[in-house]
Amino acid sequence: MIFENTRAFAQQLDSQDSLNKYRDEFHFPKVNDKEVIYFTGNSLGLQPKRAKAYVDEIMNDWANLAVEGHFYAEKPWWDYQERFAKPLSKIVGAKPLEVTVMNTLTVNLHLLMVSFYRPTKNRFKIICEEKAFPSDQYMFQSQVNFHGLKPEEVIVEVKRREGKHNIRTEDVISKIKEVGDELALVLIGGVNYYTGQVFDMKTITAAGHEVGAYVGWDLAHAAGNIKLELHDWNVDFAAWCSYKYMNSGPGNASGCFVHEKHHDNQELPRFAGWWGHNKERRFKMEAVFDPIQGADGWQISNLPVLSLAPYLASVEMFDEIGMDALIEKRDRITAYLEFILHEIDKEVTSSFEIITPSNPSERACQLSVFLHGEGRSLFDYLMKNGVITDWREPNVIRLAPVPLYCSFEDMYSFGQILKRGILEK
Ligand SMILES: *Cc1c(COP(=O)(O)O)cnc(C)c1O
Repeated sequence: MIFENTRAFAQQLDSQDSLNKYRDEFHFPKVNDKEVIYFTGNSLGLQPKRAKAYVDEIMNDWANLAVEGHFYAEKPWWDYQERFAKPLSKIVGAKPLEVTVMNTLTVNLHLLMVSFYRPTKNRFKIICEEKAFPSDQYMFQSQVNFHGLKPEEVIVEVKRREGKHNIRTEDVISKIKEVGDELALVLIGGVNYYTGQVFDMKTITAAGHEVGAYVGWDLAHAAGNIKLELHDWNVDFAAWCSYKYMNSGPGNASGCFVHEKHHDNQELPRFAGWWGHNKERRFKMEAVFDPIQGADGWQISNLPVLSLAPYLASVEMFDEIGMDALIEKRDRITAYLEFILHEIDKEVTSSFEIITPSNPSERACQLSVFLHGEGRSLFDYLMKNGVITDWREPNVIRLAPVPLYCSFEDMYSFGQILKRGILEK
C-alpha cells in the first residue's frame, strides 16, 4: 500500500479498520485535556474498561459469600485459573493443558529453571542473548550461583555483530553448535525488549534440541503481540507477563507454558505447593505430593483471584478478536508509523535511525528509534505534548503502536508533534 503523510489519509485507514471500535474499550490518560497518544503498551497496557466489572465481581462475591466464594462464587475461586486455559492456549499456540496462570514472570522463570536447568559435570552451560532484560540476567546469575557454579563459566551470550543492532539467527545457531554437548539450556527473550527484534523461535528451538539441550522462552514482549506456536515448535517451557501487550494491570500475574511431553516426566524436579496437587484430593491434606496433570501441576499457591480478574477480562477480549486480526492491523499500523518516521526524518536536519529490523517477519509491534543529535529534551517535549513513550539509555525511544487501541490518526499526529519538537529546539 502507498501511504500518505496526511491526516485525511490516516483517518481513511481508521475508517477501514475493523479493530478501530476497540479503542473505546480502553481508558486513556489525558494530557492538556486531550487523550494521549500511547506508545508504551509494551510496558504497561491501557486499562480495558470491562476489567473493572471482573474485579467488582470478586469484591462482591467476597462481601456476600466470604469463604464460600471458593466454591460457590459465580466464577469459583478455587479453579479460577482454568478459565484461562482455552483462550490463553489459542493466544500462545498451545494445548489448554499446557498453559496456566500463576505468580509473576521472573518468579515463573526461576521455577521453570528448577525443572529445566539441572547442570551436570559435563552439561551445564546456558545460552542467552547479549544484554538480556536485566531481570533475566539476575535470574541466570543467581540460578548458576545456587548450583555452586560460576556465572562466567556457564552463561554464554550470543553477541550482535560489530556495529549491528540485532542478533542474527545464524549466529545463535552456530553458538548452539559450538557449545554443543556442554549446553544445558537455551533461554532467550522471544521478542527483544530493547530493539523489538523477533527471534526465529522455531529454528532456534530445533537447534537447541539437536544438541540435547532444553529450550525455553521469555515471552514478555511476545505474548499478545506475535503469532506463537509453542506446542508445534516443540518449545520445552515459556513464561510471559500479562501487563504489557495483554493489558492485565500493573505487576500482574504471569502466564506459563510447559510442553505436554514433560507432563508425565516424574524425573523433572519442581518446587511444589498445594495448588499443584491433584485437584480432587487437594483438601484431603495428604502428605505426599501428587501433581495435577499439565502446567497446572507447577502451581504452588492459592490463586490471587483479584489480580487474575482483570487478566481474564483481557484474555476474553483477545479471544473475541483473535490473534490473526490483531496481527494484520499490527503490521499495517507499524508500517504506517515507520513511513511517518521516514517522512519526518526527511523534513528535519538532525536524523534518527530505526534500529528495529525493517523486515516485517523479524519485528512486531515496536519500533525503537535511535536519536542522533537529539537528546532527552526531545523525549521530554513529546511527553509534555501528550505522546507517551519511553526512554532507554543511551539514546533510544521505543514506540509501540498497539493495534488494540492505537489509531492511524495517532501515528499522523505523533509525526507532527515530533517534527515540531525537533524544529523548535
Ligand atoms: C518486562 C519483562 C520482565 C518483567 O518481569 P517481572 O518479573 O514481571 O517483573 C522480564 N523479562 C523481560 C524480557 C521483560 O521484558
